[in-house]
Amino acid sequence: MFLNMDTIKAKIRDIPDFPKKGIVFKDITPLLNDPKLFHKVIDIFTERYRSEKIDRVVGIESRGFIFGAVLAYKLECGFTIVRKTGKLPYRTIKKSYDLEYGSDHLEIHEDSIHPGQRVLIVDDLLATGGTCKAVAELVHQLQGNIVGLAFLIELAFLKKGREKLKNYDIFSIVQY
Ligand code: AMP
Repeated sequence: MFLNMDTIKAKIRDIPDFPKKGIVFKDITPLLNDPKLFHKVIDIFTERYRSEKIDRVVGIESRGFIFGAVLAYKLECGFTIVRKTGKLPYRTIKKSYDLEYGSDHLEIHEDSIHPGQRVLIVDDLLATGGTCKAVAELVHQLQGNIVGLAFLIELAFLKKGREKLKNYDIFSIVQY
């Protein structure tokens, strides 16, 4: 299927002032509702990482689970979840990350990545990079080897995201 990035962008809806005033939320549900485009997006990620010998895809709660889980299936590797505080049932390690106002924690099961495993971190969107940075630190703590960070959307106009994550290989499908 021939596709340019505007076709994908046409299915990403801007919701002004959600979840709070001043934020333009990128709503990916129209894209997920479109069978051909959802398929295409997964194919683009799969092609990008097929030869990278990924052992684990790490998905960030919650929209990172959507793309991460399907990609792990396609790459025939394991899928590890990173969740907000208090959701994971087994022993975890935690990392705090900054929100617009205050901070929160992300957690990962302490046995979910083995030392030396090749890890790909996946989320729907890169904004300031704070969330992904915290996840990368959790993966480092478990001695995983981060091969890349993959996003459907990169808010490149913020610039901060790439800056904060400059030590990593970043891939995004559409940029704003
Ligand atoms: P950040 O830590 O600033 O890079 O924010 C990334 C996380 O927040 C991702 O998990 C996104 O799903 C979510 N996020 C941040 N900004 C937006 C936005 N404008 N639209 C949708 N999701 C966003």
